[in-house]
Amino acid sequence: MCKIIAIANQKGGVGKTTTTSNLGIGLAKQGKKVLLIDADAQGSLTASLGFTEPDSLEVTLATIMGNLINDGEVEPGEGILHHEEGIDLMPGNIELSGLEVSLVNVMSRETVLRSYIEIVRENYDYILIDCMPSLGMITINAFASADSILIPVQAAYLPVKGLQQLIKTVGKVKRQINPKLEIEGILLTMVDSRTNYAKDISAMLKEAYGSRVRIFANVIPISVRAAEISAEGVSIYKHDPKGKVASAYDSLTKEVITSARQGDSHFAPQSKEVSADGQ
Ligand code: ATP
Ligand code: MG
Repeated sequence: MCKIIAIANQKGGVGKTTTTSNLGIGLAKQGKKVLLIDADAQGSLTASLGFTEPDSLEVTLATIMGNLINDGEVEPGEGILHHEEGIDLMPGNIELSGLEVSLVNVMSRETVLRSYIEIVRENYDYILIDCMPSLGMITINAFASADSILIPVQAAYLPVKGLQQLIKTVGKVKRQINPKLEIEGILLTMVDSRTNYAKDISAMLKEAYGSRVRIFANVIPISVRAAEISAEGVSIYKHDPKGKVASAYDSLTKEVITSARQGDSHFAPQSKEVSADGQ
């Protein structure tokens, strides 16, 4: 069984990409077969794994999705890159922004990525999708493909408004396109233990969402060592194996594996949000 997790938050710079690569490599270290999908036109995940010029790659997610839109054949291994720490990567680059625009006129425009994942899923235990900081068509494609959504939230900012919008969008996709969709949990990132922000925000999140959405027990500390890894092309486990961020991502990995085993469900969209036309 392959579990598909989208890492999403339309707010920029909250740790989505860092979480995708380090959770992904963490899962590979636990013996899981993992594919990471870079669904961001910035190509940050691709670059941070050492493929430093995503825009010059011949085959990327945009090419593959383009082929599927045009009813072309896609082979399971096509365009997939391999990283030294044991994960596979479907890279992404700037061409995704062009694709995003052209998707608007495509039949089944929300489920093109899902069709791709159907082709590759039997080769993996986990597929993680690094979403871009927007709730546009590519992100909706990620939500339409996923079993669950993991939401990184930067501990220094009050996230309420954006989170409400995000959770509403997840609920809408669940009702209209992907009934199995759940929220994996909210992950606090870049936590500075010298301040009380994280505790305050954590308490606030628990009060607002705690009954419906899991707030991960593990938080990711802020560390210069973590900020360095995107330039190194390796994970935090390699760059700073004894550091607190490596240990936090390792614990998060185990928490995610445990919840997959238990088949936890963490999301009950409020039925009052559903109107007669299903909007
Ligand atoms: P975007 O919305 O642009 O895709 P993102 O949500 O993917 O951003 P990241 O790129 O993972 O966020 O992280 C934003 C910045 O914060 C990066 O420069 C990254 O190196 C840094 N960063 C991520 N996690 C940490 C951490 N735990 N400690 C310190 N810096 C971090
Ligand atoms: Mg990113």
